[in-house]
Amino acid sequence: MRKTELQINLSNLENNLKVIKSTTSAEIQAVIKANAYGLDINEICETIENEVESFAVITVDEALNLRKKTKKPILILQGVHEIADYDKVKDFNLDFVIHSDWQLDSMPEVDLSNSRAWLKINTGMNRLGFHPEEFINRYQKLIDKNLKELILMSHLASSSEKSDPRNMEQIKLFSNLTENFDNKRSLANSGAIFNFYEAHFDIVRPGIAIYGGKYFEHGIKPVTCLRSKITMLKNIKAGDSVGYDGSWIASSDCIIAGIPIGYADGYPYSSKSAEVSINGKKFKTAGKINMDLITINLEQDSSIKIGDWVELWGFDTNLTSFSQEFNSISYQLLTNISGRVNKNYLE
Ligand SMILES: *Cc1c(COP(=O)(O)O)cnc(C)c1O
Repeated sequence: MRKTELQINLSNLENNLKVIKSTTSAEIQAVIKANAYGLDINEICETIENEVESFAVITVDEALNLRKKTKKPILILQGVHEIADYDKVKDFNLDFVIHSDWQLDSMPEVDLSNSRAWLKINTGMNRLGFHPEEFINRYQKLIDKNLKELILMSHLASSSEKSDPRNMEQIKLFSNLTENFDNKRSLANSGAIFNFYEAHFDIVRPGIAIYGGKYFEHGIKPVTCLRSKITMLKNIKAGDSVGYDGSWIASSDCIIAGIPIGYADGYPYSSKSAEVSINGKKFKTAGKINMDLITINLEQDSSIKIGDWVELWGFDTNLTSFSQEFNSISYQLLTNISGRVNKNYLE
């Protein structure tokens, strides 16, 4: 079997949930969309189910799959996209967001009394949700329906930027609009959990913090290690080029190692060299990242053997800083890990 794997450290993941819980008294809705940010929705659901109030996904298919694993509430974060989906919402007791008039107006007469609707207000992100001046009217329309519960929600545009004044504007607007209602309220993603206690309200919606992609300064631990075993070693001479387009040229005689992982596995494409770690030592990739292979400059280090593990990133990597080397974000690095990478879970 190809030795390319994503290790997932479940005790670090549990630590992250504990850190979140110690930061807020709100209930936790674990955002488990995009296959739990690439970590596998089934495994992650099993690990954290007892710690959370509910789960959030994007697609109806994700929700139906998750329903086989848990009886807890499952929210479809962008609501239904086809009117026919309301039948599945009903049959599987799913919760759904209403962010647009068409979703509200097309709500059928099917019995949704086992579902919670989450009414989304646009408080400044200008993406999904009703304008503040539309809110009361849409609230009235929804409260008349026979739903299990109506929850009020919004989303912050720049929660990871503590100093951005637009955060407090959004929080105040949401708070003022909703303060006279008994409904539960939800505004905070991971960034808002750590940066804006005023934004916690009744239910918080962490994603990336659970999966160890950000907020390490608050006690979040990395959860993933992406690694691959060396399958090729060769000596090359100063002036020899390596890989596509001969873009990388050895400045002195060196050893090149190859590992069976590439951008089709989710490692970010780059034509620049990136850092990897082998047996605790740092080395640089040599040449362009290929679809299925990465080459590494071992310089003169002959202690490294076929079969040694190369860590592309590890449990000591700050994935946010690392992702910036690729003009990317930790969210993308995690969600890009492809299905052909084996996932191994460490207790
Ligand atoms: C993805 C998402 C979240 C989770 O965001 P993180 O930054 O990963 O914590 C929360 N709320 C909504 C509406 C989302 O789409």
